[in-house]
Amino acid sequence: MCAVAASEVSLDPTVQSFVGEPRKMLIGGQWVAAESGKTFEIYNPATAEVIGHAQSADASDVDKAVKAARKAFDEGPWTRMSPSERQKIVWRIGELIDENTEKLAQLESLDNGKPISVARAADVPMSADMFRYMAGWATKLDGKSISPSVVYAPGAEWHAYSRREPVGVCAQIIPWNFPLLMEAWKLAPALATGNCVVMKLAEETPLSGLFLAELMQQAGLPDGVVNMLTGFGETAGAPLAAHPGADKVAFTGSTEVGKLIVNASQNDLKRVSLELGGKSPNIILNDCDVEKAIAGAANAIFFNGGQCCTAGSRLFVQEGVYDEIVEGLANYARGIKLGPGLDPETQMGPLVSQTQLERVTGYLESGKAQGARAASGGGRHGDTGYFVDPTVLVDVQDNMKVYQEEIFGPVVAATKFKDFDDDLIRRANDTVYGLASGIWTQDISKAHKLAARIRAGTVWVNTYNIFDPSLPFGGYKQSGWGREMGEKVLDHYLEHKTVCVGL
Ligand code: NAP
Ligand code: MG
Repeated sequence: MCAVAASEVSLDPTVQSFVGEPRKMLIGGQWVAAESGKTFEIYNPATAEVIGHAQSADASDVDKAVKAARKAFDEGPWTRMSPSERQKIVWRIGELIDENTEKLAQLESLDNGKPISVARAADVPMSADMFRYMAGWATKLDGKSISPSVVYAPGAEWHAYSRREPVGVCAQIIPWNFPLLMEAWKLAPALATGNCVVMKLAEETPLSGLFLAELMQQAGLPDGVVNMLTGFGETAGAPLAAHPGADKVAFTGSTEVGKLIVNASQNDLKRVSLELGGKSPNIILNDCDVEKAIAGAANAIFFNGGQCCTAGSRLFVQEGVYDEIVEGLANYARGIKLGPGLDPETQMGPLVSQTQLERVTGYLESGKAQGARAASGGGRHGDTGYFVDPTVLVDVQDNMKVYQEEIFGPVVAATKFKDFDDDLIRRANDTVYGLASGIWTQDISKAHKLAARIRAGTVWVNTYNIFDPSLPFGGYKQSGWGREMGEKVLDHYLEHKTVCVGL
């Protein structure tokens, strides 16, 4: 049994038994154990207690899963269904997510540590919406009629057109920061376009993905169309990324592992899409609405405990409002209620794991050693679980590690700038990443000038961390390759075929 404290929501009985029993993996429509018999422990990050067990897949399980996906792709019925039948199934997955909101929110909160209030209001409904949005595309994947422009032979005529066809078997590898949402971002477009999938869930957070796989079966997804694996990056992720039977690999995670994925895909030139890290600049100008900018800067860095690839972790504040903004942000940080995700009052949960706790506190030590000062927070919170206090670092220099590297925790590095000029743009762009950015100003002209010059895939103006299934999302530079969501993501999952007919 998974014990919860008195202040926490009482667990749904389905969730209790789902967590309490060792979970199996879904391969070819069957729930199976790893061939090696190996399992690993699942932790509650709020308490560091073991709450369950999952299968540790290795190369032989990966091989089985890829073959199951290949069979489903080659033999149907999935790939022979009409677009509207496929649309109905993908839509139904979204409906089932909605119908299971509380169970999914509890699983997500237990496994990842995120506040249940956030899981209910954001992770779960946004995942459902992603499936419904992508369901609509299933019936709109038209090719084009093309008029050949050059006549080689006098009198000859051709009729040409393009077809858009699924890529085939897609390997998908996801991280632990938004497990359900990352499953939705990857699975929904792959399915709407008629592909088959082998997904490897993050070892830290396998629960919601396994539950979602059950919902997909209920929705009528044929066997083998989605195969759901649990296991570690080195033993399950690496053989999946390198498997010659996968036509494509879609990865979200660290830039470091993203490069390994590219290497692994080289042998057979798989299609690759990557959603990687960030060190996003959040820029506050003198003429901002100060109250909104403070709340916005806090949301930019403290949402999900800073475990967001888009985290606004480099804060640039113009001289005239610097003191007010930094003091306001530090006060805001001190007011955030930390606690277990399952406590409805909790505003920020623990980090996901002991590894992340050590990584983030290591950065805090390095910042202090290099001369930065914590205006709020600055270290671990309490001595149970993996909590870190929301931290605002000041006296930060551009060459410090806390300013340059992705921390992936609730830590913002604040710096001051004097003028709205080229030097500000240079500093904002002075990073190997280019995922997101924020601008806070009431001057519409400055907002658009900055938006054009920031080298990042998303620019938020007077808002932050707004995602929508219709808005393409992805990175410049080492933040990744390609865009997820919106119409743009369909290109990842479709081949274009040209058909030319001599008349
Ligand atoms: P990660 O190692 O990049 O993990 C992402 C996914 O890749 C996980 O499923 C992981 O498996 C898998 N993986 C790891 N090594 C692999 C390999 N050699 N081949 C194929 N797959 C592999 O990220 P992490 O270790 O969880 O976190 C480390 C840092 O990555 C964070 O501190 C943060 O900076 C960054 N990060 C970024 C994002 C993002 O959305 N951009 C998300 C998460 C983390 P297992 O974890 O199961 O071993
Ligand atoms: Mg990892």
